[in-house]
Amino acid sequence: MSLPGFKLLRPRSLQETLEFLAKYSNGEAHPVGEQAAARGLRVVAGGTDLIPSLRQRLFEPQYVLDLRHIAELNGIQPQPGNGVVIGALTTLSAIEHSKFLREHYLVLVEAAATVASPIIRNMGTIGGNICLDTRCLWYNQSLTWRKACGFCIKKDGDLCHVAPGGTKCWAAFSGDTPPALLCLNAEVEIASASGTRRVPLHDFYTGLGDDYRLLRDDEVVTRVFLPRDSAGYTGVYRKLRVRGSIDYPLAGVAVALKRTNGHISDARVAITAVNPAPLLVKQAAQMLVGRSLDEALAEQVGDVAAKTAKPLTTSALTPEYRREMIRVFTKRALLEAATA
Ligand SMILES: Cc1cc2nc3c(=O)[nH]c(=O)nc-3n(C[C@H](O)[C@H](O)[C@H](O)COP(=O)(O)OP(=O)(O)OC[C@H]3O[C@@H](n4cnc5c(N)ncnc54)[C@H](O)[C@@H]3O)c2cc1C
Ligand code: SF4
Repeated sequence: MSLPGFKLLRPRSLQETLEFLAKYSNGEAHPVGEQAAARGLRVVAGGTDLIPSLRQRLFEPQYVLDLRHIAELNGIQPQPGNGVVIGALTTLSAIEHSKFLREHYLVLVEAAATVASPIIRNMGTIGGNICLDTRCLWYNQSLTWRKACGFCIKKDGDLCHVAPGGTKCWAAFSGDTPPALLCLNAEVEIASASGTRRVPLHDFYTGLGDDYRLLRDDEVVTRVFLPRDSAGYTGVYRKLRVRGSIDYPLAGVAVALKRTNGHISDARVAITAVNPAPLLVKQAAQMLVGRSLDEALAEQVGDVAAKTAKPLTTSALTPEYRREMIRVFTKRALLEAATA
């Protein structure tokens, strides 16, 4: 499959990037569905997800803006006494192999190390993983396939094959690092020519399968902030995938625990690939804090995580199995984190 025609923009600095965004994007709030994909500008970082999507004609932008040469957005910078800043262009390999992150923010390292394969992690970036498009069996297909089976709300059509009769897209957010980042209370910095804003990651996703993130066409994610008080948690990430060596998650669970004197003093559980957004399991903290973990408690939290998951027939494995694996992984991850 060939690439569609587009003009490639290659800024050399963040300033030039923001100027290009202001000049070449339509500058409006990201519109829903067909229009969003059919015009304007797309940003490319590692290209590991965007390039296959361009080949499948999921996006046909007039401009592609290549971020790779912006050195100031690459790197992991501990802030003495104040957490760490990770540039959006930092590769998943750099995160996987960072001694600092392994020592202080283990759950992120665990999640990054499960993305795709080593070669893809060498190219794929944390910014691209956060901004990753949602996925669905009816959407991540070639143009010929989609034309033959019928287009859907997310691209070119007006119905949903997964939930027929509805008007909403349920494509699943399928990135591995965002649930870990949610467990760490991460914030993202978003920049445009009119300034920067910093938003908690849990406010970045809309919960819609098509218009899945709150990012205007003239904006770009520039940095990720992990706060100091999220450091030092034990962390575990577990994912379900078809091919253990390379696949996107079909269900994923991140757990971060802090223990004091044998009791849990803080706990965070987040899930991915089973809803249109990665989600924190809000009740987990109140169920766990102040308790010592045993199988029965881990099982109860697993049940709540499974209820938070709303998988549909968007991927190769059945919704029932994916929900069940959320329950099983949550229990296992909690027990593992509690004994680490
Ligand atoms: C075979 C295969 C297996 C994969 N398996 C996994 C997996 O197991 N887990 C997983 O999470 N991912 C997986 N991926 C997807 C992808 O490799 C990763 O999500 C990667 O982190 C994407 O980063 P990137 O820099 O390559 O993003 P790109 O492909 O460059 O971009 C992805 C999306 O994010 C946008 N974007 C990128 N950077 C920014 C930014 N700074 N600001 C605003 N928008 C931005 C792009 O416009 C695009 O929409 C897989 C991909 C392939 C091809
Ligand atoms: S959930 Fe429905 S609308 Fe969304 S991509 Fe799948 S089939 Fe299309």
